[in-house]
Amino acid sequence: MTKEEFSAGGIVFKEEHGQLFILLSQHSGHHGWVFPKGFIGDKIEGESKEDTALREVTEETGAIGEIIEPVSPISYWYQMNREKHHKTVYYFLMKFVGGDITKHDWEMENVEWLEDKDVALRLTYPSDKTVWQKAHKRLQEITK
Ligand code: ATP
Repeated sequence: MTKEEFSAGGIVFKEEHGQLFILLSQHSGHHGWVFPKGFIGDKIEGESKEDTALREVTEETGAIGEIIEPVSPISYWYQMNREKHHKTVYYFLMKFVGGDITKHDWEMENVEWLEDKDVALRLTYPSDKTVWQKAHKRLQEITK
């Protein structure tokens, strides 16, 4: 039996003195470094992927984002309690507009702004590295 899951999240960016920074978090459960995200329709029935992504970014990191555009979705498999899960994640490029990352929740053990050049090395999972490569290209166009 395979369980299909859908999550949404944000690749949140800010510019300071001409330098691009990206928001990464370290998951308290699996300890991987990831972009913030969460299940669609888990907490609020019928919630759109955009609203889920915005809400999860704020809950998990304390940051408030504004959606600029979607990035192509990623998918991966994992196994839990002998059950196979197939997850699709819809990420959105988000501009940081406020909030406080010291107010992140327990689900993330660390939340950090990283210079764009350090993001690929810090990310734990190959699918996130792939989506980051695409997002980085777009960000360089958008912010130039
Ligand atoms: P969500 O953040 O969507 O609410 P979650 O925090 O419960 O869900 P995931 O972060 O998807 O769960 O982690 C579930 C499992 O998948 C963990 O074992 C984790 O190591 C693994 N995992 C997380 N992200 C990826 C990825 N991009 N590629 C492969 N495996 C991943």
